[in-house]
Amino acid sequence: MFGTLNKWRERRTLERHPVLEPAWQHALAHCAPARRLSASAQVRLRVLATLLLREKSFEPVQGLKLTDEMRALLAAHTCLPILNLGLDWYAGWHSFVIYPGLFVPERQSVDAAGVVHRHRHVMAGESWQHGPVILSWEDVMQAGDPPGHNVVIHECAHKLDMQNGEANGFPPLHRDMDRARWSQVFHAAYAQLQRSRAAGEPLPMDAYGLQNPAEFFAVASEMFFEAPTVLQASLPDVYRQLCLFYRQNPAGT
Ligand SMILES: [Zn+2]
Repeated sequence: MFGTLNKWRERRTLERHPVLEPAWQHALAHCAPARRLSASAQVRLRVLATLLLREKSFEPVQGLKLTDEMRALLAAHTCLPILNLGLDWYAGWHSFVIYPGLFVPERQSVDAAGVVHRHRHVMAGESWQHGPVILSWEDVMQAGDPPGHNVVIHECAHKLDMQNGEANGFPPLHRDMDRARWSQVFHAAYAQLQRSRAAGEPLPMDAYGLQNPAEFFAVASEMFFEAPTVLQASLPDVYRQLCLFYRQNPAGT
């Protein structure tokens, strides 16, 4: 019965609050991975984006004004990773906070001596467990520049990772996936890139991914959608595991 009710709600949202054609065309124009999808997959992405826009709140700050075009673009980026997973994978959090540009959150920590330290780091995006996704609009618009970058997909990958606890590069895997294989592949790739970095060799991905396994999964996910052939060529086992996780067919098949 609840399933029927949900379907009815979804249908009503799609009828009453559609993403209009100009906003959707703007989203496609600024989202290369969405443009590469088949026509039928684009239709599914638009449905998911429409439902996401009703389900989550979008909160611009520091004077930023969000237009329908901007909201449609954010929703398109956000729904790419869950195109074949479903909106339930974004359960447990409710909002996006969007800054005009890079932001500097202030954090406090207390050390063993009881001294309070304040930390300030410039950020393009941030995801809180059970909390909002925070984004710099300027960086949202820089998706694909440099190639493989996408701050929205990065933060959304953290959100998927957090579906089974703290972000650690080990999201909940599907039943037909092999957990041991996932660990082995990601550990091996992480270690390989750390050796490459130590040897001064060029890396196939942003070195930020080598901060820890959670960032590695998020940066690899960005590449999976933005530059899939580069990831497939440089880290084929990681690429294959991400195909299984995101329920995507390998490129060229
Ligand atoms: Zn991150």
